[in-house]
Amino acid sequence: MKDSSEKPRIATISLAGCFGCHMSLLDIDEALLGIIELVEFDRTPINDYKHFTQKCAIGLVEGGCCNASNVEELKEFRKMCEVLISVGQCALMGGIPSMRNSISLESCFAEAYLDGPSVYNPTKIIPQDKTLPPLLDKVYPCHEVVKIDYFMPGCPPDAELFKTILLALLNDDTASIPKELLHYD
Ligand code: SF4
Repeated sequence: MKDSSEKPRIATISLAGCFGCHMSLLDIDEALLGIIELVEFDRTPINDYKHFTQKCAIGLVEGGCCNASNVEELKEFRKMCEVLISVGQCALMGGIPSMRNSISLESCFAEAYLDGPSVYNPTKIIPQDKTLPPLLDKVYPCHEVVKIDYFMPGCPPDAELFKTILLALLNDDTASIPKELLHYD
């Protein structure tokens, strides 16, 4: 077994996503043990590391960019990961969060905090605390913000695809990824 300092490192993050893609990654079940033999997880919600400890070989990004903080984090992933992969329809196309793209921000805030059928807000204050990252005008897929090397479609992508792609990248053999594992729903 390799010393952890010799292993390639993997980082993952969820931006404007639902963590379903991370659940699918964990769904590779015992195969995860085989992956852990080969790689070391760096910044990822899986181990709750909030910061990179060093540069990584592979970065997996779930979710698109809906706010300024997502853009910052995605840019950091691009800088810190040799290979960056968009994971799932939200990262590839914006997904469900991008349903707001045809609606003005003003209308979104009004529906969420003032006029929505389940809203109780007697103060009529819309949250504007400085600690809240400002929303972008729309939700952007990751490749519109930084260069992305690979795309894993699906909502979420199959667990088997995670295993296959990670092993293919580690063995420098991406041509072996079977197209049957790709789906777009
Ligand atoms: S692609 Fe699907 S599973 Fe993945 S974050 Fe988006 S909604 Fe969730």
